[in-house]
Amino acid sequence: HLVRPVPFLYPLRHRVWERAFVGAGIALYDVLATLRRGKRALPWHRHLSRADLDRVFPDLSARAAVGAIEYWDATVDDARYVTTLVRTAAGYGAQAATRIQVVELTKNGAGVVDGALLRDLETDRVIAVKARHVISSTGVWTEQSQALAGETGGLRVLASKGIHIVVPRDRIEGDAGLILQTKKSVLFVIPWSRYWVIGTTDTPWTEDLVNPAAHARDINYVLDEANAVLEKALTHDDIIGTWAGLRPLLQPGTKDGTASEKVSREHAVASPVPGLTVIAGGKFTTYRIMARDAVDFALGAEAAAARPSITQTLPLVGGRPSTDGAPGALARQFGWDAAMVDHLLHRYGSDIRDIAEICDRDETMSRPLEHAPAYLRAEIAYAVSHEGALHLEDVMHRRTRMVYEYADEALAALPEVARIVAGELGWSDARRDEEVAAYTAVADAVAAAARASDDSEAARARAAA
Ligand SMILES: Cc1cc2nc3c(=O)[nH]c(=O)nc-3n(C[C@H](O)[C@H](O)[C@H](O)COP(=O)(O)OP(=O)(O)OC[C@H]3O[C@@H](n4cnc5c(N)ncnc54)[C@H](O)[C@@H]3O)c2cc1C
Repeated sequence: HLVRPVPFLYPLRHRVWERAFVGAGIALYDVLATLRRGKRALPWHRHLSRADLDRVFPDLSARAAVGAIEYWDATVDDARYVTTLVRTAAGYGAQAATRIQVVELTKNGAGVVDGALLRDLETDRVIAVKARHVISSTGVWTEQSQALAGETGGLRVLASKGIHIVVPRDRIEGDAGLILQTKKSVLFVIPWSRYWVIGTTDTPWTEDLVNPAAHARDINYVLDEANAVLEKALTHDDIIGTWAGLRPLLQPGTKDGTASEKVSREHAVASPVPGLTVIAGGKFTTYRIMARDAVDFALGAEAAAARPSITQTLPLVGGRPSTDGAPGALARQFGWDAAMVDHLLHRYGSDIRDIAEICDRDETMSRPLEHAPAYLRAEIAYAVSHEGALHLEDVMHRRTRMVYEYADEALAALPEVARIVAGELGWSDARRDEEVAAYTAVADAVAAAARASDDSEAARARAAA
């Protein structure tokens, strides 16, 4: 329910050779994406003429394309996916904790890693946990976290920043995504429910890893590349949101002192010291393979062969077909329109019934937020009661994407969201005001960073909150 197929257009500038050349590449992509003979998750690619383009993507400028090839890919809200994944693991007995930082990896007398010291960032309390084996999968923090064992070996990972901008859906007339070849790499223009997501960039990031930030040059680059093909140019005023992320880029080889390693084309697993497995690299879309490889490596070949991974057969919570709480009946009961039902099914799948339960208990929860009407009030309560949100930032940035779906970091919706979260978490009025102030300060810092001209200036501006 979280993943949506999306058609993309690869615009062609030359009539014959480019169509043959790119068409062959995309046909190969289609073959590789075939699950098994005759079974595909996505439709096959097709060739479009300029006349077809005028119908499918009227805002793709005539100077930018004489035709296009349409192929299919998919989109997913990664934060939503990760939350759902963690809840699935918890359903199988995993202990999950947010805002807990590993500050040290402990070792026994034989020098084998046997646990960790964890700092609860909410209370500053340090907790010692014992473990038969520790697996570290910390993305761009890989080098820092493997060093917590006090050893020098392990993987080499660099951080590369990518930014996106968001513009309202009605700003670009088109029914497909675009993949555009740029001088440096590629740029995607992606239709995403009520808006377009446009990006990305790919630049080394050497500032604070916690808060990567988009600056004015990043944003101008994305605007310029998109405007090179759009009929009606986008301006800064069209942008309702921006965000930046860091890709963990695996570097060749391992550090001296690495005890053992297993490198695939995309990711690597290594053991800098007995008792510790480190995994890094890969892609979001390869996470199940990465998880299998990390656990198998930690178990050792013999134990892994005796207990093969079953990850590929495990559905995520909300992903099981459900017979009760049919969406049509819920829509009639609560007065939701088709767009709202689609939104809820996309976010919660069969767990839509949990949202309905919240609405059953309190009818006001079945209504949309006044200043962010794509979301129900119940979703805010659910983010706290079912999805572990502890702060307004958790709700606005990750459990929902309000921060970039509504202008001004969705500040207009904040008071109503804060009242609901306060009710769920039992905040006093003073605590609620503090949380609102903290969210507003982050919004101001992100806006200040967006006016900066380079990474270090943007990082300084972002660090203000
Ligand atoms: C702009 C952009 C576009 C992308 N597009 C795609 C795409 O289209 N398809 C795709 O497949 N992939 C894509 N990726 C890549 C994908 O997002 C990453 O590969 C993936 O998020 C990496 O996951 P990870 O778990 O290794 O690292 P992360 O997602 O960075 O997670 C690491 C986690 O470790 C935690 N951590 C670090 N240190 C500690 C500590 N000491 N104690 C406790 N926790 C700690 C961090 O808080 C963090 O939550 C994109 C990335 C970017 C930036």
